[in-house]
Amino acid sequence: KGSGRNVVHFFNPHLKQKASFELQLEEDLRLALQQDSGLLLYYQPIIDLRSGTLSKLEALVRWHHPQHGLLTPDRFIAIAEANGFIDLLDHWVLRSACLDLNNLEHMGYSGLKIAVNCSALNLGTDQLPGRIEQLLRSTHCPAHCLELEVTESALLSNINRAIGLLESIRALGLSLSIDDFGTGYSSLAYLRRLPLDTLKIDRSFIQDVVNSSPDREIVHAIIAMAHALHLKVVAEGVETVEQLAFLQERGCDQVQGYLFSKPVPLAEIISLFPPHYRP
Ligand code: C2E
Ligand code: CA
Ligand code: CA
Ligand code: CA
Repeated sequence: KGSGRNVVHFFNPHLKQKASFELQLEEDLRLALQQDSGLLLYYQPIIDLRSGTLSKLEALVRWHHPQHGLLTPDRFIAIAEANGFIDLLDHWVLRSACLDLNNLEHMGYSGLKIAVNCSALNLGTDQLPGRIEQLLRSTHCPAHCLELEVTESALLSNINRAIGLLESIRALGLSLSIDDFGTGYSSLAYLRRLPLDTLKIDRSFIQDVVNSSPDREIVHAIIAMAHALHLKVVAEGVETVEQLAFLQERGCDQVQGYLFSKPVPLAEIISLFPPHYRP
């Protein structure tokens, strides 16, 4: 398969161009990380439905590329993963989130959490807990304000290892959430064994929740199951008041989506939700 691709690659100037474009992007991304220039964090609010207040921020990485402008993660996470430096990228994100948390705390946002995404690949090494511990020490960031979001697929490949790893991370004081829930091969048996705090229902289930009766039943069942396991439930991708009303009625704990805000720079979060914001 590989050599077949090379042959096509060699004779097809368009593909060759594409390959060199990707190569350039990879080089640019390495440089951006090395020099800490161009990468930035956007934040999306997660709203607590009972109190109506801001509960968490999800950190979503962006890359301001000198030629291509502002890039979303779908353009560059895969590059970092394929070329073995996603650990550097996620470390940059975690570190930036820690620094932002310190600033937020000084501004009066005490107790506000930041949730950070963790690539499946970073759960494949045993170094993660040590790195996080080091980072907490060097930034003096309060661990209980950090949450790590991991996906089901990341956990499934080796469940026993994953449990150990997540337990060490939790022992540092972080909380843990399972991301994009429902899109992987969820098994109730393993979900029960994982040291989780929060379950995030994937956007694909929320999208048609108002019109699709199967999706309504699925979302309802996920909420009930999560609560039975003492997990908080976040619904992702909430865009309409009808979706919000349904989720509220079914006892969903928190919501996130364009209805409240797209991911935006921290300064915008601060003006949207002042430190002592009450709805
Ligand atoms: P995710 O973790 O599931 O993040 C949610 C994505 O859904 C974000 O896309 C967000 O902008 C988008 N979204 C939020 N609310 C809505 C909504 O109401 N409607 C719609 N249509 N979309 C909504 P984004 O920022 O492009 O991130 C895409 C993915 O990239 C993330 O999915 C996550 O898997 C990954 N990612 C983002 N930041 C990082 C990071 O720092 N490290 C790693 N490893 N992955 C990251
Ligand atoms: Ca996420
Ligand atoms: Ca998600
Ligand atoms: Ca997703």
